[in-house]
Amino acid sequence: MVTPLIQEDVSLQHYNTLAVDVSTRWFVIIETIEQLQEALDFVKTKNCPLLVLGGGSNVVLAKDFTGLTLLIKTRDIHIEKETDTQIFLSVAAGENWHDTVMYCVDQGWYGLENLALIPGSVGAAPIQNIGAYGVELTQCFSYLEAIDVATGERLSFDNQACQFAYRDSVFKQSLKDQVIITRVVLALSKTPTWSLNYPALQNALKDYELSALTSQQVAQVVIAIRQSKLPDPKDIPNAGSFFKNPIVDSDCYERLREQYPQLVAYEQSDGCYKLAAGWLLDQAGWKGKWVNNIAMHDQQALVLTNPHRRSGSELLDFTDRVISDIQQKYSIYLEVEPRIYT
Ligand code: FAD
Ligand code: NAP
Repeated sequence: MVTPLIQEDVSLQHYNTLAVDVSTRWFVIIETIEQLQEALDFVKTKNCPLLVLGGGSNVVLAKDFTGLTLLIKTRDIHIEKETDTQIFLSVAAGENWHDTVMYCVDQGWYGLENLALIPGSVGAAPIQNIGAYGVELTQCFSYLEAIDVATGERLSFDNQACQFAYRDSVFKQSLKDQVIITRVVLALSKTPTWSLNYPALQNALKDYELSALTSQQVAQVVIAIRQSKLPDPKDIPNAGSFFKNPIVDSDCYERLREQYPQLVAYEQSDGCYKLAAGWLLDQAGWKGKWVNNIAMHDQQALVLTNPHRRSGSELLDFTDRVISDIQQKYSIYLEVEPRIYT
C-alpha cells in the first residue's frame, strides 16, 4: 500500500471550476480505497474538517479551508454483470463523468446520451442526481458503494436508499458529509431508450431519421447544443446552472402567469409547476449583466461566470443581489444549486 502524500497549504484555484483562489490547510490526491482510509485516519488524528472534491464543478469555495481536502482520483471501469437486456457497469468515483458517458455510447450501451458533457466525476453524480434534457442519473442507476466517514465502514445504497429527487439525494440531506462515494454501478440498456422531448433536442434532431438514430448521434447533438450556449469553465470559470428551477404550487403559478403570460413553466406530476429560473433571470435583466466583474452568462442567464477570478465572498455578494432582485420582482426565492462552503 502506498501512503498518500499529504501536502500543506495548497491553493484550490485549479480544483474548482469557478476558479476561486482559496487555500486548504492539507491536501491529498486519493487513488485507492486504502489511501482513502488512511486519509480518514489523518482527519481523526488532527480532528479537522474534511472536504471531498471530484471535479469541483458544483461548489462555491467561499473561504480558506482549515482541514484536509481530498481529491478523488480513483480509476476503474468494468462490467459487473450482464443480462440479455442490460449491462451493469461498475465505475470508480474518480472516473470522469463525460468520459464514462462516451465509453458507454461507444460500446453501444444506452441510457446516458442526454447526460453527455456534464463536467465532474462519477462519484459526485449521485450527490445531486445529475440531470439534463429530461434524463436523470436515477434512471440508469443500480447501486453505489461508499465509506462512512465516522467509522470507515463500507456501505451500499440502492436506488431507493439514495432518495433521489430533482437535483437532490440523501447525500445532500440527512447524509450530507457523512459518506464518501467510492463507486457507482450504472444500469445500461442494450436497446435504445431515447428521451428526446426537450425542445432544443427535438429541434436539433428534426432532420434525422428517428428509426435509424444512433447513440453517438444523440450524444453529439447534446454536446453541440451545450457547447453553443454553455461557457467552458476552462475559458470562463463557472459552476453551470447557479440556481435551481423553483417548484411552485398552482396558485403561485397562476398569479405569475397572469402577470407574465410568456412565463416558461412545466407542470409536474403532483400538480405543482417548475419555473424556468433562466427565464425569470432573463426577464429581470440579468442575462449578460455585470456587477463587480462577475456576470450572468450572455447566452444562458442561469450561469454565473467568474472571468476575473473574484473571491468567494464577492461571488456571494453578487448572488445575494440576484436573489433579492428576483424575490422583489416575482416573490420567488431562488435557491443556489452548487454547494456553498463558508
Ligand atoms: P464537486 O464539485 O467536486 O463536488 C460537488 C459536491 O459533491 C461537493 O459537496 C462534494 O463534497 C461532493 N462530492 C464529490 N465527490 C464526492 C464523493 N466521491 N463522495 C461524496 N461526496 C462527493 N449538473 C447537472 O446536474 N446537470 C448538468 O447538465 C450540469 N451541467 C453543468 C455544466 C457546467 C459547465 C458546469 C460547470 C457544471 C454543470 N453541472 C451540471 C454541475 C456539476 O457538473 C455536477 O453537479 C457534477 O456532478 C459535479 O461533479 P464534481 O465531481 O465536479 O463535484
Ligand atoms: P433549456 O433546454 O433551455 O430549458 C430551459 C428550462 O426549461 C430548463 O431548466 C429545463 O428544466 C426546462 N425544460 C425545457 N424543456 C422541458 C420539458 N420538455 N420538460 C420539462 N422541463 C423542460 O435548458 P438549458 O439551460 O439549455 O439546459 C439544458 C439541460 O441541461 C437542462 O436539462 C438543464 O437542467 C441541464 N443543465 C444543467 C446545468 C446544471 O449545472 N445543473 C447546467 C447546464 C445545463 P431542467 O433544468 O429541469 O431540465
